[in-house]
Amino acid sequence: MANFGFIKRQTKDFINIDPLQTGGKLTEEARKALIEWGDGYSVCDFCGGRLEEIKRPPIYNLVNEALPDFLNCDFTRLTNGAREAKFAVMHALRRDDAWVVIDSNAHYSTYVAAERAGLNIAEVPNTGYPDFEMRAEKYAETIEDTKKKGNIVLAVLTYPDGNYGNLPDAEKVSQICHEYSIPLLLNCAYAIGRMPINAKQLGADFVVGSGHKSMASAGPIGVLGFNKEYSKNLTRKSEKYKVKEVEFLGCTARGVTVMTLIASFPHLIERIKRWDEEVDKARWFSKKMEEMDIIQLGDKPHNHDLMFFESKGLYEISKKAKGGRYFLYKELKKRRIHGIKAGLTKNFKLSTYMVEKGQLEIVLGAFREIFEKYS
Ligand SMILES: *Cc1c(COP(=O)(O)O)cnc(C)c1O
Repeated sequence: MANFGFIKRQTKDFINIDPLQTGGKLTEEARKALIEWGDGYSVCDFCGGRLEEIKRPPIYNLVNEALPDFLNCDFTRLTNGAREAKFAVMHALRRDDAWVVIDSNAHYSTYVAAERAGLNIAEVPNTGYPDFEMRAEKYAETIEDTKKKGNIVLAVLTYPDGNYGNLPDAEKVSQICHEYSIPLLLNCAYAIGRMPINAKQLGADFVVGSGHKSMASAGPIGVLGFNKEYSKNLTRKSEKYKVKEVEFLGCTARGVTVMTLIASFPHLIERIKRWDEEVDKARWFSKKMEEMDIIQLGDKPHNHDLMFFESKGLYEISKKAKGGRYFLYKELKKRRIHGIKAGLTKNFKLSTYMVEKGQLEIVLGAFREIFEKYS
């Protein structure tokens, strides 16, 4: 048998610039909650049959008050992740032979959720290299083309996308979709919990967030916000078990994950107020990288901490270096920096979210040293 039992996490004390991980780092409160509520169905002591009605611990307040306030939407539900939220919406709206229109910067899980829901998928193209921008007008074109083929039940826009960290003009996309009476789902897996998200202002009928990605929570947990118009579809009850909601399989985040979200919630409310500082820091970092000829692609100036870079220099080094294309990963690991995927040199993404400037200086210094060493 493998060496099971408690396992230390190798990268726990590294400088972490992994986009998947910077926004999911637990607060001290959440770390305590993890131990306190770690036992299986710990939140179910006083459950009357519905997760979002549990008053002790205050899951009722989270789902019915705090989250709708936080997102400015009529209703929310917890899910087991952003993908489960997307799937719930798609499944609730699905019809036979119907279509969903998604941005070509969408996460794979959007695609897979649509497949599982049995929807046909039409992709709205981006502008390609080097900006990969999603333009609102392209939604109109794709919708026009697609509606000849069948009913469009939903449009999805990734806000921002997980590759380039681009923040498209959601309001404009929403206007276009609504002209065609198509509801819009904003996938805010990289936004909710990092930056302010106002569903009504953005014109989103549905917003989706990821607790372990951006809400300082132990996963998997997600949030779904939706408006009155669609609450009937989404909160349909089981015929036999009258209080259980079918699209959520009766119950979702029924354990420690929701308790870490509750523990971190006051911190989330505070940290989104400092979003401008995070954007400034990201822009500063991008500028410093470009001084080394590591070029940031996507929106420029950038509006998010997730950034995609291109480096011909590192790619050239990888052709000759010991370790080949793994050389960069190894050099960074030696310096206790985690987050750029092993094997990547020419194109890679990273996140500066909540990483202190001093630590980012160390990362920049590491790149400088690496260039010097191999020059
Ligand atoms: C990470 C990510 C997801 C998946 O989130 P889960 O909560 O793990 O399902 C979905 N969409 C985008 C854009 C992401 O970046």
